[in-house]
Amino acid sequence: MSKYLTLGKFSFGMGDRFSHQGKAQLRACVLATELGADVVPVWNKSNREHQLIGTEPSSLRAEADAAVKALGWKKPYHVDADHIQLETVDRFIAPSDFFTIDVADSIGKPADPKSVKAFASRHPELIGKIVIPHIDRPFETMPAEVERVANKFLLAVQDAGKIYRHIAQAKGEASFITEVSMDETDNPQTPPELLIILAALADEKIPIQTIALKFTGRFNKGVDYVGDVKQFEQEFNEDLAVIAFAIRQYGLPVTLKLSVHSGSDKFSIYAPIRRALKKFNAGLHLKTAGTTWLEEVIGLAEAGGDGLALAKEIYSDALDHMDELCAPYATVIDIDRKQLPTKETVSGWTSGQFVSALRHDPKNKGFNSSFRQLIHVGFKIAAKKGDRYLNALKKHEAVIAKNVTENLFERHMKPLLLDETKPAKKPSRRDTVPA
Ligand SMILES: [Zn+2]
Repeated sequence: MSKYLTLGKFSFGMGDRFSHQGKAQLRACVLATELGADVVPVWNKSNREHQLIGTEPSSLRAEADAAVKALGWKKPYHVDADHIQLETVDRFIAPSDFFTIDVADSIGKPADPKSVKAFASRHPELIGKIVIPHIDRPFETMPAEVERVANKFLLAVQDAGKIYRHIAQAKGEASFITEVSMDETDNPQTPPELLIILAALADEKIPIQTIALKFTGRFNKGVDYVGDVKQFEQEFNEDLAVIAFAIRQYGLPVTLKLSVHSGSDKFSIYAPIRRALKKFNAGLHLKTAGTTWLEEVIGLAEAGGDGLALAKEIYSDALDHMDELCAPYATVIDIDRKQLPTKETVSGWTSGQFVSALRHDPKNKGFNSSFRQLIHVGFKIAAKKGDRYLNALKKHEAVIAKNVTENLFERHMKPLLLDETKPAKKPSRRDTVPA
């Protein structure tokens, strides 16, 4: 395996659509680190988000560097070119040091039959009985099964290899972290499929450190996991078992871990994830994204006055453009239109009512997940407002920053990484979130 930049054990992906919350996001990592969880901050923005907002990848690097400087952060941090492909990667190469190579589109497209045959004959160990520690039953794989799986995934892995080499050639192989994402596809990968995928990634000599897989259940944007949590836990544990096995078997980087593209706010699977990480002593990369944009709108609403008025206007415009806003996210949102309040209703709301509907607190009776999902996909409305929106972010920075930090720290990092860990050193601001 070639040289590569290593990624710390627990890394936390943060998206920031309008590039104003870098410091508030990093502050959550500072708080987690003070309490004993070494969280590596990773700022991520996909090509799709850059296109919808009209930003360049270099702006994310500038934001990350500025936040790190302002807070005096001395530990590693990274900038993730999220969900890139060969056609879109070039403008990300200079400013990014973490690349999420998205090959979901090639899954299921048949690979060259010769390379499928060659793969199967290179890997006799994949045929027969395979015993993987912590997976109850050994699998029995027939040669035809290995060929079937190779046929489904080999082209995707070969494409990942092409993109990896393209980046390595332009940037130098030792200067970045590689993730391969297969999450935006129809079916979860089974344990034998994952093992075959990892063998193929090792053949391509990709120093993969995070892999994003598909799980059963829905990962809707900005709201909780919808599905059978027990089944998720089993899949997650099996994936960890296969990864640990494949690291030894195929010499993959010892830092290889799962990347959960959470779509933000999958609170009900955080406890199962924690249990599994403990059991396997495994690391994790958790990607969040839109949760910070929603905190901006919450902060505006909480500020009252012109802030609240702007938050209401964003909702009202989002209602007018609902179909257009939802189209790119059709498979990852479930908005019940009957649950959406009318513009007239919302225009009469107080700050408290607006914040209750939007803030992700399922215990709050006012919380409305359809309202939240519509605002989630409505960031394009704010982008169209241009400086008016950005000036409001500046004017109400204190209240927005408080919400951004508190959300990432209290609702995400604490339940995932912290509840039982001991402080590494004397915490200076235990359980409090600075403005
Ligand atoms: Zn993803």
